[in-house]
Amino acid sequence: MAPDAILPPATLGLLGGGQLGRFFALAAAEMGYRVWVLDPDPGSPAGRIAERHLCAPYDNQDALEELAAGCRAVTTEFENVPAQSLRHLSRHALVRPGAAAVAVCQDRIAEKEFLTTHGFPVGPYVSVRRAADLEAAAALPFPGIMKRARLGYDGKGQVPVGSAAEAVAAWQALGEVDCVLEARLPLELEMSVVLARGADGTTTVYPAVENAHRDGILDMSIAPGRAPAAVAAEAARLAAGIAGALGYEGTLAVEFFLGAGRLLVNELAPRPHNSGHWTLDACPASQYEQQVRALCGLPLAPAEPWGCAVMVNLLGDLWRDGHEPAWTQLLSVPGLKLHLYGKSQPRPGRKMGHYTVVGRELPGVLEAARAARARIGIAGTPP
Ligand code: ADP
Ligand code: MG
Repeated sequence: MAPDAILPPATLGLLGGGQLGRFFALAAAEMGYRVWVLDPDPGSPAGRIAERHLCAPYDNQDALEELAAGCRAVTTEFENVPAQSLRHLSRHALVRPGAAAVAVCQDRIAEKEFLTTHGFPVGPYVSVRRAADLEAAAALPFPGIMKRARLGYDGKGQVPVGSAAEAVAAWQALGEVDCVLEARLPLELEMSVVLARGADGTTTVYPAVENAHRDGILDMSIAPGRAPAAVAAEAARLAAGIAGALGYEGTLAVEFFLGAGRLLVNELAPRPHNSGHWTLDACPASQYEQQVRALCGLPLAPAEPWGCAVMVNLLGDLWRDGHEPAWTQLLSVPGLKLHLYGKSQPRPGRKMGHYTVVGRELPGVLEAARAARARIGIAGTPP
């Protein structure tokens, strides 16, 4: 343990109060820490359970001062916190991950440039800051996707484009903000790797997970994923390399595409990740507990899972005509763990909760997770 480890009952600060923050707050509370949350939403999932909820925008100077004065260390659950706020906080409190790493991950242009500069594989893309940049689009294979460089999530801020000519219209439709134009890749598989890295460089990497999306939103994660062992090992190696190159401190997620046998980095998240929820129920320490440990300078826990896990997101679409889904039906599935985030407004596409089925063998776990989908009325064929 580092000599300057922050021990309970110290107060920890959290920027962002979504479900990822709620699980961080729960993990921290379990370990005897107190948590203060900064989030402008009065009903934020983490704010509801934190010792204190500072309800203010992320760049509110008074709230940032208060957080810095009251907390020994501050972390984030949300990559869109202004890097400037992190820089400001770091003058008074320990901030992990640091502003520089978050700044890279919150801007797709900076992220792609960082990855290519350090030799990590990414798909064909063009950075678009001004109209003239779109001339380079002629060299891209089409179809493509125009993505906002900042503030996108769950497929939002993305426009499919069929040709270089359409790319111009797509950029205009997005308000001529900074964008990256990516070639749409034929995907065999989507994968992610979640890891934790301590300030001393120690890194523990969870097994690579296989992810299935619907309408740009994560639907289901299978852990460990079914990619060949060599591919999973390569993903873990790349993710650890990225964390090292970023000088990263905390929990980091790396999303990968596997296409034509090649592993490419899709994007980075400087925080725990939806595809790492399964670690809550299938590992000695979750990605959130690792975030607490890394933040406080404590030893990281081993990342080997007890078994296999399948996680399924529960979106607001399941609340039909205002009716709660059939929770009792779901809870009668053996090995199933239900997590709800305490959000009061179920909107279509909004992540309201998830469940994880845990067991020894993947085929049985997958079958139970699929049966549970049917019980609760998730439409469509599961992956
Ligand atoms: P975010 O997760 O921030 O919404 P992503 O860039 O990860 O944005 O895109 C969301 C999903 O859209 C991906 O997980 C993938 O399913 C699909 N997608 C994104 N970019 C590409 C691409 N270049 N080729 C194929 N599919 C893509
Ligand atoms: Mg993504």
